[in-house]
Amino acid sequence: MKGTKLFALSIFSIAFLSFTPVDKKLIIIDAGHGGNDMGANRNGIYEKNIVLNIGKEIQKFNQVQDKYEVILTRDNDTYSQLAERTDLINKLNPEMVISLHVNNSAKPESEQQGQEIYTQNTESSKKLAEKISKKFDVQKIEEKNLHILRESKAPTVLVELGFINNTKEREYMTSENGQKEIAQKFLEVFNEY
Ligand SMILES: [Zn+2]
Repeated sequence: MKGTKLFALSIFSIAFLSFTPVDKKLIIIDAGHGGNDMGANRNGIYEKNIVLNIGKEIQKFNQVQDKYEVILTRDNDTYSQLAERTDLINKLNPEMVISLHVNNSAKPESEQQGQEIYTQNTESSKKLAEKISKKFDVQKIEEKNLHILRESKAPTVLVELGFINNTKEREYMTSENGQKEIAQKFLEVFNEY
């Protein structure tokens, strides 16, 4: 009985694999933090959840087009080491990597708002940042020496999606509508890439 089941399962896997389009290029969305690493937080709202929800939304929206396949470095509330994330990225050799984060500042209520993008020291990373900046209200694009930017061999950017301590932005990033709008903007970037 067990053998039959296993056999059926392996036939299924082979059939499934043979129907997976091999010519699809990959995009990796890295939802920052996770598990015990909450990231920034305010009023019981955690960065790790915002970026995971938006990452999943991007993956869901992306299913309607067949140019790219979106892979998440985490699809649940677990922490994966930075080295594990970049090992996965370098193994999959994607077209681009977008690491999602949420900003914070020392003030109780931030007057600062908008997105910030950190890039690698490469033309392709800076070009990707430019494309993203056209869709958002980006305040700053800057090269930065961060693990994911340093170790990823693919064009990679880290996007701070907004300030968790700016009430308007926090409410937007946690609303269903806001998360869908943000995901849609990334989809537009993919389509133009
Ligand atoms: Zn973060």
